[in-house]
Amino acid sequence: MNNLKLVAARPEGKRTVVDVLGIKVGEGLTIIAGPCSVESEDQTMRTAVAVKEAGATMLRGGAFKPRTSPYAFQGMGLKGLKILDKARRETGLPIVTEVIDTRDVSWVGEYADVLQIGARNMQNFSLLREVGKSGKAILLKRGMYSTIEEWLNCAEYILAEGNERVILCERGIRTFETYTRNTLDLSAVCAARAESHLPVMVDPSHGTGIKSMIEPMSLAAIMAGVDGLEIEVHVNPQAALSDKDQQLTPAEFLGMMKRLRAAVAFREELAAEAAGRGQA
Ligand code: PEP
Ligand code: MN
Repeated sequence: MNNLKLVAARPEGKRTVVDVLGIKVGEGLTIIAGPCSVESEDQTMRTAVAVKEAGATMLRGGAFKPRTSPYAFQGMGLKGLKILDKARRETGLPIVTEVIDTRDVSWVGEYADVLQIGARNMQNFSLLREVGKSGKAILLKRGMYSTIEEWLNCAEYILAEGNERVILCERGIRTFETYTRNTLDLSAVCAARAESHLPVMVDPSHGTGIKSMIEPMSLAAIMAGVDGLEIEVHVNPQAALSDKDQQLTPAEFLGMMKRLRAAVAFREELAAEAAGRGQA
């Protein structure tokens, strides 16, 4: 990928670590968890406390929802951001939330610690330039119709504005397969980590759309070398205003987190063994 300059892997192999209020994305495994959408103060606060207790390191929640239908719930906007702000004050978790319009970047950035660029806006180049100027940490999701090279070029737009705080996120692509909501491309984790120095995350919730697949795909992503996971959790998924079929309950999330931690420990063991072999 010779058109990449700032995003390309460094010759000495040094990887970027994005610091978000002391959370180091690119070291160990970062877990972003929370509801698809902020729906009310009660729903967000209860979910935030539960995911924190389970070991999540950041809170997600959409206040601006890019929905397929213009008649579907579009998010709470400013009210939602204020709820997220309160959740950060109560739990200490940094906030990850999507921005969908160039005109909103500066004021949404006052509430967000990480600005998410959604799959549908991955190639919105004016939005990429604007978040590049913001200096905020950016979670750049892969577009559902985009190649890995196109995705990395979108990161290049942000870095070209002077903002190196970019986290890549694979969230599934559209293929001929209809069994899953999207086809989660785990090989993209290896490719993005090989081609770029930026941290790479996976979103198995949108990547599969199927609850029972979230844990196995998370475990597989850990073994593929992922730097973090973004997982949808809702106190009462059946009542959710968006993505109700793929959101985990806090109890499901808690059980899964125990097994993810074991997988991370195993990954570290394998890495230490490989390093030992390298020295010998
Ligand atoms: C989301 O994470 O809220 C979301 C809408 O994801 P994507 O942009 O990947 O569809
Ligand atoms: Mn969602």
